[in-house]
Amino acid sequence: ESQDSGKKEAIVKEYACMRKTPLKSKNPDIVSALETLSENAFFHDDEARRLAFQKAAGVIKSLNFKIKNINQVKGLHDVGKHSLEVIKDIIEEGSSIEVENIINDPWFHQMKAFQSIYGVGPSKAKKWIAQNVFTIDDLIERTDLHSSFDHRMELGISFYKDLNTQVTKQHALAIKNLIQQHLEEILPGCILVLAGGFRRGKASGHDADILLTHPIEGKEIGLLPKLLNLLSDSGLVLHGTMETGHNNPQTIMKDKGKPLASNVDHFDKWIGIMKIDKNLKDLDSSDNENDLIQLEQNSLTETSIETKKGRLSKKRSFVQTLDNNEDFARDTKKKLASNSKMSFEQLLALSSKDKQWVARRVDIIVVPVSQFFYALVGWTGNKWFNRSLRLYSQRVLGLKLTSHGLFDLNRGTSLPANSEHQVFDNLKLEYIEPTDRNC
Ligand code: ATP
Ligand code: MN
Ligand code: MN
Repeated sequence: ESQDSGKKEAIVKEYACMRKTPLKSKNPDIVSALETLSENAFFHDDEARRLAFQKAAGVIKSLNFKIKNINQVKGLHDVGKHSLEVIKDIIEEGSSIEVENIINDPWFHQMKAFQSIYGVGPSKAKKWIAQNVFTIDDLIERTDLHSSFDHRMELGISFYKDLNTQVTKQHALAIKNLIQQHLEEILPGCILVLAGGFRRGKASGHDADILLTHPIEGKEIGLLPKLLNLLSDSGLVLHGTMETGHNNPQTIMKDKGKPLASNVDHFDKWIGIMKIDKNLKDLDSSDNENDLIQLEQNSLTETSIETKKGRLSKKRSFVQTLDNNEDFARDTKKKLASNSKMSFEQLLALSSKDKQWVARRVDIIVVPVSQFFYALVGWTGNKWFNRSLRLYSQRVLGLKLTSHGLFDLNRGTSLPANSEHQVFDNLKLEYIEPTDRNC
């Protein structure tokens, strides 16, 4: 028995970031049950329970065999008593009553539906349900509630259909390409990578996460406001929030002493909604990372960096000087804000008429090339993989991992990386492919 459980412990490594976790589990029913319990705990504000079920789900997702007998999972790391009972019910009875009860609870479904609205979190969702609001249409009809909506919620409700239609990878790549075309007018030679769920192998997702860098450090400074200004002039921006001015080395050095909230970084970024023409042609998904491979190769040797610089200097006449123009950033922010002054009524009218475009959630993150591969790991995710990486880094190495780098806080140093492989090397971890980071 004990010998047996010793073997099992070897099956599952302690940290999720040490395991290969593919998108498709061998035990989808169990994973879905544990994730339902986790989500339900989240809706009830029980973070500890949420995490416990999520961790158990993560372990099950990493198993490369179909569970036929409860003994196969007994003693596995992070699979607690409660999770074991649920797994046992599923393999022996076909389902878990506890999970069935949640799935059959209308409250759970209302929470799920409201949560899926852009700008809405669990506390708002709960409030609405308590006020007898049950559907998205209720939110539109109950005018007494309208004064409590902020602009993000108004957009989320108005464009619910657009925003809750999954974005395909081909479409996300077409959006990336569209942004790249606009960038060519501002700063040629930028490198864009579609990160997030698509990079982990998902065929569709809720947004396009686009990382943007330039092979010459510093060229990216002040780029985001210029890009947003141009996208806005092209009628491609519906709404968004732009963060700028954090993107300098001093800020990062100052901040590395402070524990950053797990999900927050200090890159220039735009989190928003684009207006994408319905006729935008999908792209083939094969070439997402060609630029990335080039970036890795270019940073390998001094000579190749020079080659790259040489190539770029030919285009110099197109390159505008990009100084960190805070005034320009401020003006652009103002301009973007005035675009989104539309009232709820106007938004509802806009979304219900026959329009030639769809609203799409897009995140654009501008990253200095020296931090690029840490940012890439952070924005590829998933969330639980990141959480595990950071915890491991803290506890085992005593180093602080963020999307900006890997920091030794005592010495005030950081470890550079010229590829994702090097990020893992620096962390003394075996490399995990993006498609195996679906914890
Ligand atoms: P989906 O397909 O639903 O979009 P996703 O995995 O792409 O799933 P996102 O919410 O788009 O989920 O986030 C992508 C990755 O970027 C996640 O791993 C997350 O940890 C990271 N991330 C998201 N928001 C931030 C943020 N504000 N700062 C730093 N990292 C973030
Ligand atoms: Mn995403
Ligand atoms: Mn995102």
